[in-house]
Amino acid sequence: MKSVIADGTKIVPAKIICVGRNYLDHIREMGGPAPESKPTIFLKPNSSLSVGTERIIVPSEFGTLHHEVELCFMIADRCKSVSAVDVSELISCWGVGLDLTLRDIQDTAKKSSGPWTISKCFDSAAVFGEFISFPSDFDPLSLDIRLSVNGELRQSANTGQMIFTPGDIVEYVSKFMTLEPGDIFMTGTPKGVGALRHGDFIEAEISDLPKLSVSVDRQ
Ligand code: MG
Repeated sequence: MKSVIADGTKIVPAKIICVGRNYLDHIREMGGPAPESKPTIFLKPNSSLSVGTERIIVPSEFGTLHHEVELCFMIADRCKSVSAVDVSELISCWGVGLDLTLRDIQDTAKKSSGPWTISKCFDSAAVFGEFISFPSDFDPLSLDIRLSVNGELRQSANTGQMIFTPGDIVEYVSKFMTLEPGDIFMTGTPKGVGALRHGDFIEAEISDLPKLSVSVDRQ
């Protein structure tokens, strides 16, 4: 099983829980419907995990590959049916992640109302930098979030623009799923998603979190 680094320790996440459509400007750029009253949730398997120092290999035959930079956090303790106000005590660490997406395959799935699974779960679809801990009064809703490709800024926003906060997301998901220590949440991406080509170099940053840098192999 693949691991991520959190405060210098290797952690194996049992599941990676992702939020789609969590920034209004990204919903608009994708031409999607207005946000709903509940978060859009999907999962990624452990096999899709890649750490930031690795080269991302995604064959070109898979079609268009898009970057999505996202604020991520890790669950500290086993829990179920958590109230949003108690969530900060259950988060152990924060990190930068890339929710890589095979956009052609996702668009086809959307048209047929099919699941997005393949477009979000291929090998290297979940890329993470190092996770670090902060005091419990850490504010995840005031962070600058940016992604550049080959030095060109493509995504730039603030996490305060999220529709559903980390508390909202954990409260909703934990009603249905038991959360385990090491589970990772990806909180959605702002506008500016775009295609990645062979040889591209991605740099993703969120305020004081460890920077994530990876190169892309699309042969
Ligand atoms: Mg995403």
